[in-house]
Amino acid sequence: MDFHLTEEEKMLQATARDFARKELEPVASRIDEAEEFAWENFKKMAELGFTGLAIPPEYGGSGGSMVALVAVMEELAKACASTCDILDAHVGLCARPICLYGTEEQKKEFLPSLADGKKVGAFAITEAEAGSDIAAIKTTAVRNGDSYVLNGSKLFITNGPVCDIVVVFANMPALAPRGMTAFIVETDTPGFSRGPQYRKLGMHGATNAELIFDNVRVPVANRLGDEGKGMRICLATLDEGRLGIAAQSVGIGQAVLEQAIRYAKERRQFGSLISQNQAIQWMLVDMATRIEAARLLTYQAAALLDANARISKEAAMAKLFASEACMDIAVKGIQIFGGYGYMMDSPMQRYLRDAKLTQIYEGTSEVQRMVIARALLT
Ligand SMILES: Cc1cc2nc3c(=O)[nH]c(=O)nc-3n(C[C@H](O)[C@H](O)[C@H](O)COP(=O)(O)OP(=O)(O)OC[C@H]3O[C@@H](n4cnc5c(N)ncnc54)[C@H](O)[C@@H]3O)c2cc1C
Repeated sequence: MDFHLTEEEKMLQATARDFARKELEPVASRIDEAEEFAWENFKKMAELGFTGLAIPPEYGGSGGSMVALVAVMEELAKACASTCDILDAHVGLCARPICLYGTEEQKKEFLPSLADGKKVGAFAITEAEAGSDIAAIKTTAVRNGDSYVLNGSKLFITNGPVCDIVVVFANMPALAPRGMTAFIVETDTPGFSRGPQYRKLGMHGATNAELIFDNVRVPVANRLGDEGKGMRICLATLDEGRLGIAAQSVGIGQAVLEQAIRYAKERRQFGSLISQNQAIQWMLVDMATRIEAARLLTYQAAALLDANARISKEAAMAKLFASEACMDIAVKGIQIFGGYGYMMDSPMQRYLRDAKLTQIYEGTSEVQRMVIARALLT
């Protein structure tokens, strides 16, 4: 079942579906094995205007609603979750906060090259001692003339090995304890460097690195929002980003379900198809039902955002439900495939490895529960 989409949203969804089937599916396992940034896919997404989604046309973007963005992300993730992950960090976490909190000059300067994919975006809050507890960041920004001087380092950053523009969060000691401030940093600025690419369990085509800031001078003109308003920008950005992860979870889950149905209708044991066993049917039923519910939560939260509602609780619910469902579905998918699902030449193992990340980044499942509890109890 599809959430009600406008004609424009349906068109984008159809384009993404076609692209994913023809261009992403055939290369997904090669990209997984290569463990390199999926440049080819990124360039193709740029040609289709996906890197400019949810960026207004006056800044070079393709426009489109958040519902359109999640619909596209679901289709991409179904074929290649890494490609969807790259887009989530690029658009959802980097271009979107510039759209929402940037000055006119910042939008004109940074959005066109993100929208057309000439530059790659990233978002950096996480540090060694600040994961779930983002208020604990130690990176500092000290005003010096017409610049801020940034010092610190950020861990695990998606698109980190290749990014050109990063939305970075640092604390201004003079404003402690409410000094978190956001900056747009260009990675060719002196003092900026990257650690080696991390090796990860899954999501191999979306690469990650530590970003290091050693006396990086950022012009005052590149401060995103007011001094001390970084926490609000970070949380609102994560609300949007979480919708992307929820959509990604729905896409992975849908891929697993379709493969599992196909296999159950082909595989014979004890003289009959395994799909004739109620045990297998009920697994498929639970998978399909959870995907449907996850999809509705995700698209509903995106529609609320399009209507300018604050969606912290709804985005957290969508991400929590969809990512937990996705992991469970990936495990069940392997069970239905039996031993074949455990083999590295089956795509089922990739789905499982990619699925696990959806429960961790942009806030773990425990953090989503904290967000929802806060909304329920205040
Ligand atoms: C592949 C990957 C890509 C990432 N990309 C980015 C990125 O682009 N930009 C960025 O800034 N960050 C990124 N991250 C960081 C990611 O958002 C964090 O890893 C995540 O928020 C969890 O932080 P942590 O790893 O430090 O775990 P911790 O915060 O140390 O948590 C460890 C465990 O304790 C639990 N826990 C912590 N506090 C509580 C509590 N109060 N109650 C109950 N349980 C709790 C957690 O849920 C978790 O299970 C990425 C991470 C990964 C793995």
